[in-house]
Amino acid sequence: EPIDLVAFIMHFIEQNYLNLEDGRTVTLSVEGSRRDVRLDENLFSHILGNAISNAFKYSKDRPNPEVKIHYDDDFYSITIKDHGIGIPKKEQANLFESFFRAENTTGIEGTGLGLVIMKQFVEMHQGTIKIESAKGKGTSVIITFPYQPS
Ligand code: ATP
Ligand code: MG
Repeated sequence: EPIDLVAFIMHFIEQNYLNLEDGRTVTLSVEGSRRDVRLDENLFSHILGNAISNAFKYSKDRPNPEVKIHYDDDFYSITIKDHGIGIPKKEQANLFESFFRAENTTGIEGTGLGLVIMKQFVEMHQGTIKIESAKGKGTSVIITFPYQPS
């Protein structure tokens, strides 16, 4: 069923990430011309929640995470960006392995399964997931989907 991603993500943020106990929230921005997309809302909320909760937990005491929607011609993307601890370059190749946790996560809870599940979901919808990160600076998770999955 076609959904308006902007409205959907705005609602999702309002429901889950407005006025967190430490006063943080997440900002949303939109580029390109808004149009409906086809996504399973339940599954999509799950992966969006995973990515946003990573963005918060790996960026304590830093500026708020950001979500960006980009509408391109044949594809659209959702970027979840934070200004947190980042991921050491040499560990970035292992991010999609089950139970993997980078060495700079000491003291931050996690199992190392969130990204594995996200990647499965994204690929099920013929999308791609890419992570760009710099240690100490922050991380962006970029999820891209075709408007018309075959
Ligand atoms: P969980 O299974 O509860 O999500 P997790 O957060 O450790 O646990 P993933 O979400 O799969 O697991 O992430 C795997 C690893 O990738 C993390 O342990 C961390 O090392 C790194 N990572 C993922 N997202 C970020 C981020 N936004 N900033 C810094 N490191 C990250
Ligand atoms: Mg996680």
